Amino acid sequence: MGLAFDHTTLAQRVLFGSGQAVENTATVIGDHGAARVLLIHDDFASDLGDDIAAQIPVAARIRGVVQHVPADRAAAAVDEAIGANCDAIVSIGGGSATGLAKIVALRTGIPIIAVPTTFAGSEATNVWGITEHERKQTGIDARVLPVAVVYDALLSTGLPGGLAIASGLNAVAHAVDGFWAPKADPINQALGTEGLRALVPGLRRLHDDAGDLEARELTLYGAYLAAVAFASAGSGLHHKICHVLGGRYNLSHAETHAVVLPYVTAFNAPEAPDAAARISAVFDGAPAPEALFSFGQHVGAPRSLADLGLREQDIPEAADLVLPSVPPSNPRSVDLPALEELLRSAWAGDPVGKGQS
Ligand code: NAD
Repeated sequence: MGLAFDHTTLAQRVLFGSGQAVENTATVIGDHGAARVLLIHDDFASDLGDDIAAQIPVAARIRGVVQHVPADRAAAAVDEAIGANCDAIVSIGGGSATGLAKIVALRTGIPIIAVPTTFAGSEATNVWGITEHERKQTGIDARVLPVAVVYDALLSTGLPGGLAIASGLNAVAHAVDGFWAPKADPINQALGTEGLRALVPGLRRLHDDAGDLEARELTLYGAYLAAVAFASAGSGLHHKICHVLGGRYNLSHAETHAVVLPYVTAFNAPEAPDAAARISAVFDGAPAPEALFSFGQHVGAPRSLADLGLREQDIPEAADLVLPSVPPSNPRSVDLPALEELLRSAWAGDPVGKGQS
């Protein structure tokens, strides 16, 4: 068959510059003519919140966010935005801050300007998520795509080392899972490939020297590309698994991605030669699953789902919950025993390597 695809590029302004978060946020707010901003920031970003608040018209401020966007927090934020008659949202923080802003945008239509502080990439997607009764619900809506993103590599400096690496591996997962996701196409695959070409050396260098600003910029840039690829390609098997693990068992988002990716890659790679080749190329030709596993261990990723707090007896239920959401287009067919085996390996932290498929 010839080359044929249906690709949508999401429109978003991106300002990238180290040390320029305050100035660039003020520029975007000025350009939008926003007069009543809802400022949402994570607890750790109080000082940055103050600096930005000094430059923009803040009408309401939410300090502190909770991972996976609990429904009650989201409802309170929506009330705050409506009560203060806000016309723009500025979110400062990782995916949890962006995620809260997204629910406000979803319910009110107020545009978001995102100032990310991790490599999670939520700011580049039109995907929202909310957690209620231990289940994470996600959806896609144009209103939740931030109209502008202000990237400043210095903002991630405060991330504890392990979390910075895990967050970077979450970005790697966006690129990799995008290669076989339901709407994978040559454009998002190119973006994902380029994302990996920035992320892998960036994270290696960050692991060696957390003060390497150029490496941090490279990682952030790669994380953005990977997130754009993911936003376009959709969630593949890897994301479906991680959403269940995060929503049902409250496992930490970035670390869960860091642990699970090599196992999903080992499962899919035999039936996804093009994806395997793209990954392999970034690791000097090493086989994709073991390259990702060794890379994760080298840069200090957590080893197993057991280390993250999943109990072995939860595995059958987790497999049950994942199965209905597995994309039919996954390169390899997935059944319950296969999912359980994959989860069991990730739970135990089995080495991923030669001979495994
Ligand atoms: P996070 O925002 O929950 O942050 C993790 C921890 O690091 C928190 O304790 C936070 O306070 C702290 N932190 C964040 N940045 C920091 C910094 N620069 N310095 C010091 N501490 C900092 O983690 P995350 O991985 O960025 O986001 C996870 C959430 O985002 C999950 O809910 C996930 O589902 C969602 N997410 C959504 C999408 C999407 O497209 N919708 C994409 C990726 C992630």
